[in-house]
Parts: sequence; C-alpha cells; structure tokens
Amino acid sequence: MAQVKSSVDIVGLVGEYVRLKRVGSTQSYTGLCPFHTEKTPSFRVHANHQFYKCFGCGQGGDVFKFVQEIERISFYEALKQLAERSGIPLPQRSGFADADTRLRAAILQMHELAEQAFRASLAGPAGAEARAYLDRRGIAAAEIGQFGLGYADRSGQFLTNLLQRHDFPADQMEQSGLVMRRDGGGLFDRFRNRLMFPIHNESGKVIGFGGRALSENEQPKYMNSPETPIYRKSYVLYNLHRAKEGIRKEDRVVLVEGYMDAIGVYMSGVKEVVASCGTALTTQQVQAMKRHSGRIVVNFDPDAAGANATEKSLQILLDEGMHVRILELDGALDPDEFCKQRGAAAYGSALTAAKNYFYWLADRARSKYDMRTADGRVAAFQFLLPAIQRLTDKIERSAIAGDVAGYLGIDSGLVLENFRKAATDRREKTIAAPAEPVRHDEKILLNLFLSSAEARESIIPELRGLAAIEKFATWRIFQALFTLYDAAEPFGLAELDARLEEADRAKLASIAFAGETKEEDLSLALGMACLEKLRRQTLEGRIMGLKASIKEAERSGNTAEALRLYGELHRFEKSQRVDSVQ
Ligand SMILES: [Zn+2]
Repeated sequence: MAQVKSSVDIVGLVGEYVRLKRVGSTQSYTGLCPFHTEKTPSFRVHANHQFYKCFGCGQGGDVFKFVQEIERISFYEALKQLAERSGIPLPQRSGFADADTRLRAAILQMHELAEQAFRASLAGPAGAEARAYLDRRGIAAAEIGQFGLGYADRSGQFLTNLLQRHDFPADQMEQSGLVMRRDGGGLFDRFRNRLMFPIHNESGKVIGFGGRALSENEQPKYMNSPETPIYRKSYVLYNLHRAKEGIRKEDRVVLVEGYMDAIGVYMSGVKEVVASCGTALTTQQVQAMKRHSGRIVVNFDPDAAGANATEKSLQILLDEGMHVRILELDGALDPDEFCKQRGAAAYGSALTAAKNYFYWLADRARSKYDMRTADGRVAAFQFLLPAIQRLTDKIERSAIAGDVAGYLGIDSGLVLENFRKAATDRREKTIAAPAEPVRHDEKILLNLFLSSAEARESIIPELRGLAAIEKFATWRIFQALFTLYDAAEPFGLAELDARLEEADRAKLASIAFAGETKEEDLSLALGMACLEKLRRQTLEGRIMGLKASIKEAERSGNTAEALRLYGELHRFEKSQRVDSVQ
C-alpha cells in the first residue's frame, strides 16, 4: 500500500478529474471542488503532503481517499486501481474484500469479456448486417476499433454461454445486467441483434452498454444496460473518459444526445464531446463535466424532443453555474449528419458561433407567445425568468435580464421589480475560521513535523513533556501527532488527518496549506528555537505555580506547607541555573 501510494503523484491524479492551478510558486494547487457545488475554488491539493482538502465542504485525504470518493468505490478497489495504474502487482487478496467489492469486480470482468466478445462478433460472419449499417453511417474500421463497437447476435445465448463457460454464478450474471432470466427459469442475453456501444466510467473501464436495434421494426431503437452495482446512470456521461483531455484543452464541453453523434463529432476533430446516455441530464453528470470545464455548448437534435430536452438540461446546467451556449444546426441536421455533410471546419465554426442560452430561450418564448400584445410579452418574460434567476452571479443576472427585456420589448422597470421580489442570493458555505487563535510556534512545529523526520526525532521526545504545549489551540492535534509518532506508521498529513475530529481536521489543513509559503524558512534550527521558548514558558509556568501555592499556604496560615514549597522553589530555581550554566 505504501509502495502504491508513493508511486502515485496526487497532483497528477487529482488533475485528471479536476482542473488545478498552482498557487504562486508553492507546492499547493487549487481548483473547483468535485464534491460540492461552488463557483470560487476552495479545493486544495498539496504536492509535498500528498493530501487534498476542500475548505468548503471539508472533504480531504490522500490518493486512496480521493479515488474512493470520486469513483464511489471501496478502499480495496481504489488500491487496486492505483496499483494497476502504476504497474505494481498486488497480491491476490480478494478474500479480504467484502461481498459488494467482489460482486463489482466480477461484474467488471463480465463487461470486459462481453466487450471482447461483441467486438469479435462484429468482425465475424454474424456481424455482416451491423457492419453494413456502420458503413452506411460512414464509420470506418479504425473508428469501430477506437470506440470498441460490437455486435450482440440473434441467438440470445451468445453471452450467457460465454459467461457460464467462465464459471460466473447465475445470480452474479443476472446482477451484471447483461443477462436476464426467463419466467421459466433459464438465462438469456439482454441484448439481441443489436449494434453495441460500450459505456465507460471516467477511468476508462467498461461499465455498461448501449445497444442499437438493427431492424427498423425492433423496439426500442436504443436499449441500455440497467442500473447495476457498477453502472449508476445518473453519474455517467458517454465518451467522458476520452473527451476530458480535449475538454480541458479547449475549455469547453460539447454535449450531444446520442452515441452516434458523439462518435461523429469526435471523429471530426472536436474531441471535447460527450453524450448523456439516453437519459435526462442529471446534476451529477453536470458536476462531472464541470470538473473539467465550466463552459458548455449544448447541441441536441433539431426536433421538438431535442428542444424540450435542451430546455430541461438548461435548468440543471444553470443551477450548477455553467456558462451555457446552445447550438442549433441549420438544415435541421443532427450533429453527426452535419459533420459528415458539411465537414469538420463548418461544425467548428458553428460551435464558435453558438448563441448564449438566453437568446435561444427568448426565441423559444417568441414562438410560444403572442409578442404583439403586452400580455404575451409579459408571459414570455415570465417564461424566461426562472432560467435567468438560476444564474448565481448577481451582476451577470441583472445584465442578462436587461438584455432579455430589450430583446422582447419589455419595460426594464418591470424586469427589475421582478428581480427584487425574487432576489435569492446563494451564499457558498464555508467552514468557520477556528475560534481560538493558533500561535505562530504551533504552526511552525506542525509544518516542520509534517515535513521532516529529523525534526520529529530531535524535538518531539522533549516537547511532549512540556506543560506549555497544553495551552496550544492545536493541543488535540499535537496529542494525535505524538500517538502517530509512537506508532511508527507512515507519517504524513493524511495519516494525521485520519486520527482527528472534524473541527481539528479543518484547523490542521488550514495550517498545512498556509505553511507552504514559508517552506524555505522551515528549518530544524527554527524548530529548536520554538522548543527552547516552550521550555522556558514551562519553567516560568512552574515557578509561577509554586509562588501562587506559597501565597495560598501563607494566607491560610499553613506555615509548614509554605516552608516546604519555598524549599521546593529554591531547589527548582537552583537546578535551572545549573542547567543553564551547563
Ligand atoms: Zn468541497
């Protein structure tokens, strides 16, 4: 586990899911949190500490924790995924994994087998009809290979037999969603006589399939895998694992409806394209895109269904603070047809020229309401209002409201009044700053201990005996740190964080992430100076304590006790003088 951890750089790994920016010339990086909705980044990743922390929602941890949270998998699966990525062989320990983890591993394996089998079947004699269809749609062999397209044959037993030959138990086969059970009891393939599109998760593993019917009277035209332990539809976007690099590079997402559209657009050179897998767009899907770019062009089919889907998606996209433009292609062409007929360059310029969403909405409002009457214009404005109110940026909101009013020929006073009524300011929640002030020496020592084993060895043994540190605002963090030090486990921010309560976690993270600016100042000498100061404070505290006890004893007439304490004070002061002469 330590070997896997040290072979993965957290900045590189997190950077595959979140756009990160380096903070100045520090070891710290910042970006929009993938675990909650925000407009200003409060998510940080620290290269030296190999640790991430969100100062908005409090999420934090090491590489394993990050992969667990973002892929929603168990610790064991995260370990396995990172080990594979680094080419480190893991001992076969599936016996240690829980039943859910074993089930998910089996289902993943079935999907891998299914993808290979569908591919082989498309290339073989049974796949002739499917190949002819792809040929008509202008999809060449290279693209078939790149997108892993396949064919599920007519027999209904093709995959079932294959999985049985691999000794998967029947209940696991059913739970994979690839196989169904007849009323009479027998198992058969879910997908029959369909062109198969593998659906991948963000790290590129096949987790489901979309199947397109090959004959026109076969219904439904598209059939997808059901929800399974590895396929949660609301989280998945088709092609995201291939597109994410392009999305970052172009700083925009192109969202289309279908698999064929995504493939066609991608092949035309627009690599930042994803498709919702035949479901209405969800918040989780928008969040997955937004980790890579906050700008989107929605390019759905040019029919009524496409327009309705666009309108619905718009609300979710605006809720998540995306910058939305909408592309309607001329000639009533869908994206795939457009790319084929007009070429990649024409599609590229259409994307660049795509209209801001509220013009599209205003056009829709104009076609729905009678704009010649005042009532119609107000109704049109009411239609637009919710979308505008979803804008989280106040200034942008009123600017757009003004523009829309102008576009529809409405009095701008009416617009402003509507806004005042409905003014709902969302404030992004942030963790409250720690109440007790953290002293400079606490910060120095914590950062020093987190970065230097030598400093831990030289300072901790004496430091932990000093009473002065019990006054630290970070006393509980120091206590946990000492226990960790004794345990001789790997010592780092993640390990320390794991031993703390929530409030202390936030405190520790803010110290660790603020400390990096002064890293060059952190030295053993500085730590020793802190230690010396604390040593003195402890002594002074002891002397003051003794003096107070003496006064107390004198006041209550306990002369014997007062004399004893005097003696103790005297011996103590003398011993300290001898100490300091040495
Ligand atoms: Zn967060």
